[in-house]
Amino acid sequence: MLIHHELRINSYGHYLRRRFGCRVSKVNVDAGFTCPNRDGSKGTGGCIYCNNVSFSPKDTDAIIPLEDQLAHGMEYHRHRLGSEKFIVYFQKYTNTYASVDVLADLYRRALEYPDVIGISVGTRPDALSGAALELLAEIAKTHYVCLELGLQSMDDAILSRINRGHTLEEFVGTVQRAAGHNFDICAHLIYGFPDETSANFLKTVDLLASLPIDSIKLHQLHAVAGTELAEMYRRGEFTPVTLQEYVTTVADFLERLPARVTVQRLYGSAPLAISVAPRWGLKNNQMWFAVINELRRRGSWQGCRAVHG
Ligand code: SF4
Repeated sequence: MLIHHELRINSYGHYLRRRFGCRVSKVNVDAGFTCPNRDGSKGTGGCIYCNNVSFSPKDTDAIIPLEDQLAHGMEYHRHRLGSEKFIVYFQKYTNTYASVDVLADLYRRALEYPDVIGISVGTRPDALSGAALELLAEIAKTHYVCLELGLQSMDDAILSRINRGHTLEEFVGTVQRAAGHNFDICAHLIYGFPDETSANFLKTVDLLASLPIDSIKLHQLHAVAGTELAEMYRRGEFTPVTLQEYVTTVADFLERLPARVTVQRLYGSAPLAISVAPRWGLKNNQMWFAVINELRRRGSWQGCRAVHG
């Protein structure tokens, strides 16, 4: 049974439990990468919403050795959630953006750490070299691997406006190159870009359903301090979606999302100190259940209106 009967979705946490037979947590690390959309090779300003502080937990910092970050993160998850096994999540910036020797060393160190069953690698569609792909495919022969690719929007005009520095075509091409290597592929999406309609956003689910995507992460567009988006908000050029609109659209999205696709994230959060807008005043689990409760209210579930299997 892919769909959890209470949550009404195929949650990633339950998928991991089914697959590995115990509670598995992802432990975030900062391995000191940068991003081609920041260092000048693709762009310099980065995506208009990017402030990595907003999506990295405390205690992940490249100046802290990888093993110390792992020890601290695993300790937290063991005691807080009772997790027994761990996936090391290379999260911050672009985690395939280095020579294959550097990547191999970092991934190997993570995998050698006790109770680590695999890695999850966040990257851009235009930053996965053939050598990096071969490395991940090799690791996937013996360990769990998840490749997390940022798409954010399937609309090239939006990708251009938010300064992503890549196109939909590059995303689709990279998904197709990465498929068939025995690892999971996760797509990252954002809803709420200026001038984006719910109807246009929902076309994304049909695209994803037609691709070999195994998992998704979704969050609302939110402005955090120090970003171009925060400046746009101050100038009145960015109006965040309301909580109700977000919840409605995400529930619509989930109803169309095939049950085989696992759901890793349904909202985004940022430290209060740097959060600019929207500020819905909900804790993380309240955000999660705002969406789940909408599915319950409708009597629907993930995939109940999916066109593709
Ligand atoms: S690709 Fe990721 S790390 Fe790079 S600028 Fe955009 S959000 Fe930031």
